[in-house]
Amino acid sequence: MTSSIDGREIQARDGETVLDAARRIGVAIPTLCRGEGTRPDGGCRLCLVEVEGEAGLRAACHTALAAGMRIATRSPRLDALRREILALALHESGDYPFEPDPNGSELARRMSEVGVRTATPTADAPRVIDASHPYLRFERAACIACRRCLHACDEIQGQFVYAMEGRGAATRLVFGLGDSFAESACVACGACVDACPTGAISDRDRASGETAERSVRSTCGYCGVGCQIDVGARGDRVVRIDGARDAAVNRGHLCVKGRYAHGYREAADRLTRPLVREGGRLVPVSWDAAIAFAARRLDEIHRRHGPAAVGAMTSSRSTNEAAYLLQKLFRTRFGTNNVDCCARVCHASTAEALRTVTGTGAATTSFADIERARLIVVAGANATEAHPVIGARIKQRALAGVPLIVIDPRRIELADYAAAHLQLRPGTNVALFNALAREILESGSEDRAYLRERCEGADELAAFLATQDLDAAERATGVASATIRAAGRRIGAAGPVLFVHGLGLSELTQGTESVMALANLAMLTGSIGRAGAGLLPLRGQNNVQGNADMGGAPSHLTGYQPVDDASARARVERVWGAPVAATPGATIPEMLEAAARGDLRALWIQGEDVAQSDPNETAVRAALARLDLLIVQELFVSETARYAHLVLPAAAALEQDGTFTNAERRIQRVRAAVPPPGEARPDWRAVQDVARALGCDWRHGDPASVMDEIARVAPRLFGGVRYDRLDGDGLQWPCPDAMHPGTATVHAEGFVRGRGRLSAIAYRPSPEATGAEFPLTLVTGRVLDHYNVGTMTRRTPSVALAPADWLDLHPSDASGLGLADGDRAAVASRWGSTEARVRYTDRVAPGTCFLTFHFPETHANVLTGPQRDPQSDCPEYKVTAVRVTRAQHAQGESR
Ligand code: SF4
Repeated sequence: MTSSIDGREIQARDGETVLDAARRIGVAIPTLCRGEGTRPDGGCRLCLVEVEGEAGLRAACHTALAAGMRIATRSPRLDALRREILALALHESGDYPFEPDPNGSELARRMSEVGVRTATPTADAPRVIDASHPYLRFERAACIACRRCLHACDEIQGQFVYAMEGRGAATRLVFGLGDSFAESACVACGACVDACPTGAISDRDRASGETAERSVRSTCGYCGVGCQIDVGARGDRVVRIDGARDAAVNRGHLCVKGRYAHGYREAADRLTRPLVREGGRLVPVSWDAAIAFAARRLDEIHRRHGPAAVGAMTSSRSTNEAAYLLQKLFRTRFGTNNVDCCARVCHASTAEALRTVTGTGAATTSFADIERARLIVVAGANATEAHPVIGARIKQRALAGVPLIVIDPRRIELADYAAAHLQLRPGTNVALFNALAREILESGSEDRAYLRERCEGADELAAFLATQDLDAAERATGVASATIRAAGRRIGAAGPVLFVHGLGLSELTQGTESVMALANLAMLTGSIGRAGAGLLPLRGQNNVQGNADMGGAPSHLTGYQPVDDASARARVERVWGAPVAATPGATIPEMLEAAARGDLRALWIQGEDVAQSDPNETAVRAALARLDLLIVQELFVSETARYAHLVLPAAAALEQDGTFTNAERRIQRVRAAVPPPGEARPDWRAVQDVARALGCDWRHGDPASVMDEIARVAPRLFGGVRYDRLDGDGLQWPCPDAMHPGTATVHAEGFVRGRGRLSAIAYRPSPEATGAEFPLTLVTGRVLDHYNVGTMTRRTPSVALAPADWLDLHPSDASGLGLADGDRAAVASRWGSTEARVRYTDRVAPGTCFLTFHFPETHANVLTGPQRDPQSDCPEYKVTAVRVTRAQHAQGESR
């Protein structure tokens, strides 16, 4: 039976409210307390409607539309009631002179619609604004206690910053236990700003009063989540950034970096002209001179020393198109496969492991599976800080009752919401995963049909695991055997499981083995290729996935085509019109070692700051210093650019066109919202300019043309990718042809390599053993407010949120060392030493400490060593034996 709203017929849908049904057919019912993406509060009563045959009124937001219902949303009675309700809400809110305005805040528009006149302040109070936070603002007088901010904070971010205090007219919003934003647990995601209908909660960008002239849809240039953003711009300025509500990736949500940390664009030290080293100094030159210099020096070094003497690193901060062209330049013009990218130093182990196990070295699943999952395992990924929008989604699922198991040496935020936290010793993942796999088999809960039909190696794995001992796993990992047993049985019983992992698995000397051992769990539970389950590696930087996809790898051409595969080479050579060397080139660590020896003489680094981000910093800097030619494309004179002979000023993500590929293999458009400053130029264009100066006949007029070529070079993965198909939510590869819709779940019809490969992997301890000299294990990583080496975020107000690197120590360790909270400590490893201020926290276990690497003053990577995973060449950032002592003359000193 059909229903009707204001006389318009509508079919009722299961569970749909009258309010949502009305919106579906374009009937607007006034609301106040109902926010986007949150459950209805039902407090304001502005959405009252009449139901035929009923004397009373119903709140549209809380009434399910039943078959046959006849609803009226407008009537003289409803209009009068809404005027009264709104006037009363404004009166109770007190002292703010609200004005009706059809183009103003949501409240002002509502006043206009409902016909409420200017609210009269009851007192002539001065405006008091809490501006204690570097990004957020709160004006209490403008708060009408509608609770939308509270719902947004609780139900989108899961931060629970807000609460209501008092009753009736005295009801007021409070920030947890603190009196101000700055003291609260706020993570500045901005969801409350979006939700607030009055502007009582606002932000620095909105409060500036600068209005946008245009809005440009683009992709966030920070982490690998790839949130879609609507960039409000005026002239050459970004005036605000909003989350795109219709985006599959983030549904309007953003984190503090994506929404607010855009001020670096206008930093005074932004590079606006090319710089060439002359007499030991970097001096500005024209682009023509810079291009000629790059071409001449590269050519000279190549002619004199051969292909092995030149190399390039493509950038995860830049676009797919820029990465593609740089690796093509070195492969075709210089005949070398010495091309690599920073995926080497983060998820190379993941790619290697997943390629071996499944046939494709990337996520098997999609972010949407977070909401479909029946059990989520998060291993070695601090998602709420490093991938905040995804972290918030996982948190919401845990709050909704979906069991979450966290495997991490630190008690990260997600552990607070987990059914179990397996706090293992750093670098012991393989031992733990083997023990969990053994428990799955012991309990007989493995998916036998899946293993039989889709996998190989199950019997060998079972035989190996039968030799493994749970007590030995406890001794290796530090996790109680009973906890391991319970977790293993829970994972096994849950059936298909979503496994989310991060750098805590891959940045180890057993990185590849760690991910392969995790993949064993995924196959035992029948999880790969199934909806709501599978393997979801969270990628760190915005385009680290795309960088590797584009061929930023010494052993693989674009689209993961092996350089030693003659047919793959022939296909690529046909498009490139140039031969490709059949032998793999050097990885990043190998290139740096070759530079230190004097074998590699010219290096082009596209937007990576290896002098700060790569391990064993002293050795990295020595290698850079030895080069005859270092070309760097950068936004600033980074630590690496200090060693450069040529610095090419780059366009930031907000200033260029192209594409990024996120952690779920989704290729999304990046669009210039503002022009780059001065003479800064998009990376892809600078590479093409140098290529042409070197005699390459490249004629790309725009990045879309580059993508067309990429589609031809690697048709199996990208054959159907064209810019005109990327509007909206982009395309997830594999997308082999123009009609293909992209792939949300890989291996759904069977593994790409034929059968999924289970492997028996014995646990090998890290070579970074602790002992009397270096008794603590250091883990390095990120915090929410900064991105990677901080080149961008340190040039924004985010520094007020996190002004320095901290050394997190357990209070028992710290007090044993005589260090008070805030004291300056000296940290030494076998490879170097530095200093940082101590922060007491029980989020690290005794015997373990944690240090971020965002600030060059700390240069945390002076501590990390040269140890690498033999299979992927990925360095061991996550395990370093250190000694912590009091820094000399530095008690409580701030930096
Ligand atoms: Fe940007 Fe990642 Fe934050 Fe999204 S979660 S806004 S992609 S930094």
